[in-house]
Amino acid sequence: MVYDVIIIGGGSAGLMAAVAASASGGRVLLLDKGDKLGRKLGISGGGRCNVTNNKEMDELVKHIPGNGRFLYSALTSFGNKDIIAFFESMGIKLKEEDNGRMFPVTDKAKTVVDALVNQVVKQGVDIRAHAPVDEVLYKDGAVAGVRLRSGERITGAAVIVASGGKSVPHTGSTGDGYAWAEKAGHTITELFPTEVPITSNEPFIVSKELQGVSLRDVSLSVWNPKGKRIIEHRGDMIFTHFGVSGPIALRCSQFVVKALKQFQVGNIILTIDLMPDKSVDEVYAETLKLAETDSKKAVKNVLHGYLPDKMIPLLLARSGLPETLTYDHIPKQQWMELAKTAKSFPLRAYGTRSIEEAFVTGGGVHLKEVDPRTMESKLMNGLYFCGEVLDIHGYTGGYNITAAFSTGYAAGSSAAAQAQYK
Ligand SMILES: Cc1cc2nc3c(=O)[nH]c(=O)nc-3n(C[C@H](O)[C@H](O)[C@H](O)COP(=O)(O)OP(=O)(O)OC[C@H]3O[C@@H](n4cnc5c(N)ncnc54)[C@H](O)[C@@H]3O)c2cc1C
Repeated sequence: MVYDVIIIGGGSAGLMAAVAASASGGRVLLLDKGDKLGRKLGISGGGRCNVTNNKEMDELVKHIPGNGRFLYSALTSFGNKDIIAFFESMGIKLKEEDNGRMFPVTDKAKTVVDALVNQVVKQGVDIRAHAPVDEVLYKDGAVAGVRLRSGERITGAAVIVASGGKSVPHTGSTGDGYAWAEKAGHTITELFPTEVPITSNEPFIVSKELQGVSLRDVSLSVWNPKGKRIIEHRGDMIFTHFGVSGPIALRCSQFVVKALKQFQVGNIILTIDLMPDKSVDEVYAETLKLAETDSKKAVKNVLHGYLPDKMIPLLLARSGLPETLTYDHIPKQQWMELAKTAKSFPLRAYGTRSIEEAFVTGGGVHLKEVDPRTMESKLMNGLYFCGEVLDIHGYTGGYNITAAFSTGYAAGSSAAAQAQYK
């Protein structure tokens, strides 16, 4: 059998590419090396699948700091509203949570995966699991098909590479697609972990005294070695046994990776603002008032409830204040230091967890070599890319799956249209 379109990878991007490619009745083959399709999709969003985000286009793009602007065309053809309509047309109701995040009402990622797989089956796509692709075949400047690890060759007019990045390899994404792209002449921009916990060897991290402490609605900043703020994110985070994690730490992680590399330094300073809505002077005055109200109580106890309990001894020590101090003996200068430390608690980061542990892989197939309307390679006829294999990465919050669906849809529909003209 000669296929119109062969899709390598049955993740978010590949499944959507299969839906789009088969919509007009073309012969489509979907190959995956794993035992089942959509394995990463199935564990996404903590098992609930944050399937897209309901923000407006410009906001969506802003939340995809890794080349989001490349997506304007693809999102215009098939964007978040289309994703929502697509799932609703299959009877999968979605609900909106904080910050525009969309989830299936069932709270089960399986609902999303099953719906996609059923649709692909319904539209007559040939699906082969346990079918690892070893090589994409090229002939005379065009794709010719693929060769499976078993040695079997399959001929196709178009090949869509939807093999994902290198993160969480047990889901099947082991970075196989990069070599196929390079063989076609493509550049692979440097791969790096993004949306990944940040590591630190500060004494309070090594001693694990803050492990498990979660901070709500704080702000986290990353600073370059010249003291300029690179980025600031507001939200929740958590101290772990190796550093920090949680939504805003994940968002800051790529800036830590890039700054370490750009400035060739061993560590990067992060600061936590525990009271982002208050000025230093307000924190100073409010804490002093608390101490005055309970003037016989040790300051350590006075501050309970105002500052995160487990951080109080650290904050006091850093400001040169004994925990047992009472209001009458407060040295005003050090108290001001306490307020400043609460507004800018420093944390030295020396890196992040590995690319395998990251939620998303940064870097990938260079976008200058890919047509943003069709996702076709500008270097090899009939070769298409979609999803995380491309040099696109977004924050957590539904942006990566949106990018995968949107590029998958563009690649699938374009590849099928092109194949029909052959
Ligand atoms: C734990 C976790 C939670 C996440 N949660 C969210 C979330 O809630 N919202 C969000 O937007 N993003 C989330 N992401 C990111 C998002 O899931 C991915 O960016 C997105 O699924 C990438 O889709 P993809 O199709 O490009 O790649 P993948 O989903 O990784 O699919 C690639 C597929 O290609 C197959 N493959 C690879 N090599 C071969 C080969 N040689 N032969 C055949 N098949 C091959 C793999 O088996 C795999 O099935 C999360 C990521 C992780 C790790």
